[in-house]
Amino acid sequence: MNNKEKLEGIKCKKCFYLQHISHLRCLKCKNDTFDTVEAKGDCILLTYTILHAPPMEFRDKKYYILGVVQFENGMKALGQIWPKENLIIGMKLKPIYEKVCNDLDGNEVNAYVFK
Ligand SMILES: [Zn+2]
Repeated sequence: MNNKEKLEGIKCKKCFYLQHISHLRCLKCKNDTFDTVEAKGDCILLTYTILHAPPMEFRDKKYYILGVVQFENGMKALGQIWPKENLIIGMKLKPIYEKVCNDLDGNEVNAYVFK
C-alpha cells in the first residue's frame, strides 16, 4: 500500500489559529469549528535532532533525524529529515512520501521524509 497521505492541519474559524488535526477545540480560544488546511509547496527546517539509538523499526539504520518543518502557509509538521549532511536551520526542504522502515511484523511503513 502506498496511498499518499495528505499533510493537513486545522484552522480555527473564529481566531484562525492553525493547529494539529488531533485537537477537538482551538488551543487559543476553545472554539470547536475548523477549516482543514493542507500543507503546500516547499517547507523550511525549523529544528532537528539526530537519534543515534533509533527504535527497533529502524534497526537497519545507524541513526535517523527527526525535525520540525514549516510550510509557506504556516503549517508545521514533524518528520524525518534526510540526509544528515549540511543541514542548516531555515534551509528549504521538499516533502517526499516514501518508505521509511518496516514495522516489527515486516510491513512497509510509508511517511513523509523532508529532503
Ligand atoms: Zn480559535
